[in-house]
Amino acid sequence: MIRVAVDAVLCEGNGRCAATAPELFVLGDDDKSRVMNATPPETLREKALLAARLCPRQAITVTVET
Ligand code: SF4
Repeated sequence: MIRVAVDAVLCEGNGRCAATAPELFVLGDDDKSRVMNATPPETLREKALLAARLCPRQAITVTVET
């Protein structure tokens, strides 16, 4: 299982994650990214990892749990 989280303090709201993985992230009214499903299916693992890599603030954490 993977677990996805966004650090709201680090997030600068540029929306890159929502553009990369709209199944996982949405920008809130406060211009902070929200994780729509913190424990997404395995099929979204690569997208979650890509979004984390592309985040310019390193605000996204993807944890692999067994
Ligand atoms: S890519 Fe990173 S900084 Fe940009 S909105 Fe998403 S979490 Fe925030």
